Amino acid sequence: MADLTLDHVSKFFDDGGSKVVAVDDASVTIEDGEFLVLVGPSGCGKSTTLRMIAGLETVSEGQIRLGDERMDNRPPRDRDIAMVFQSYALYPHMSVRGNMRFGLEESTDMADADIDAVVEETADMLGIADLLDRKPGELSGGQQQRVALGRAIVRDPEVFLMDEPLSNLDAKLRSQMRTELQRLQEELGVTTVYVTHDQTEAMTMGDRIAILNDGELQQVATPLEAYHRPANRFVAGFIGEPSMNFFEMEVHGDTLANDTFTYDLSPRSKEAVEGTSRVTLGIRPEDVELVSDDELDHTYETSVDVVEPMGNENAVYLEFGTERRFVATVGGMRRVEAGQSAVARLPEEAIHLFDAATGE
Ligand code: ADP
Repeated sequence: MADLTLDHVSKFFDDGGSKVVAVDDASVTIEDGEFLVLVGPSGCGKSTTLRMIAGLETVSEGQIRLGDERMDNRPPRDRDIAMVFQSYALYPHMSVRGNMRFGLEESTDMADADIDAVVEETADMLGIADLLDRKPGELSGGQQQRVALGRAIVRDPEVFLMDEPLSNLDAKLRSQMRTELQRLQEELGVTTVYVTHDQTEAMTMGDRIAILNDGELQQVATPLEAYHRPANRFVAGFIGEPSMNFFEMEVHGDTLANDTFTYDLSPRSKEAVEGTSRVTLGIRPEDVELVSDDELDHTYETSVDVVEPMGNENAVYLEFGTERRFVATVGGMRRVEAGQSAVARLPEEAIHLFDAATGE
């Protein structure tokens, strides 16, 4: 067992003469046994990163290492990695047993009886022991996904790579499989890189998450760190649902201002914006307070535009000034109705400030 390291890894594609930078100088070490979720919007370079680790793409610059050993120059079959795809990629003409055996027959010289034992033990662990003689076409989506996982697990690899493995499942099964996958990964202790575009999945599954945008790693952190201390505006907006509210403000000494409202900063926050002329003020919807006392600091008169139920909470869309809309989440028991006025408080301890020019 060993750490998996990406050391200044880049990938360039030639797209009809113009250079596409799919991954730009990415460095991260995934600890032995860690579950790292690689997350970001479509086209940000997640699959390319995974495919470079698997050896399905070459590395343009940099190195990939397992422990101290360089692996980016080895063929895929010598990398001791098992990959699970969104499409499952099962052989339709083979039974479940055949599909699970296949990977092992290819990669080891284990005796037949030993392979059978491993396949059966793994099928037991995944709750598919009674399906071993069926063909993939006779299985539900969730069962097929378990077989695809089983095929990866029997190989007992150093690293699991998973590319959106749950995205073809319906919402309920997906959330069940998330929990199951996490439990399995913990039990097996295999270093795992898991790709998803879904920030909720990333936030609930990863020991750490690596957020990618436009080929660049934005932050590698625990889900809580990324949530509470986002490295930049991109991460702040990407993590969290509903998304963080942002206001573009000019800096005038210890006051932030735009054409709708002003925001007074304490000496500590003022220090953070010194030397900056424009900042983005961010606040998460759950940090916006609806209060009855408009004498408190950082309170604003607003009107309720739309109230959107979200289970045991409501997303309350507020307007103040002309067309400046932002959202607060409040407990579902609280009566808030469209059209009413409301005093919103943006407490200073909850705000995030980013340089408007750099986003950092
Ligand atoms: P993601 O998995 O995050 O959706 P990808 O890794 O698939 O993103 O793609 C990253 C970028 O690289 C995209 O701009 C994509 O168009 C480009 N890209 C991926 N594969 C190729 C290729 N074979 N040739 C040219 N460009 C590619």
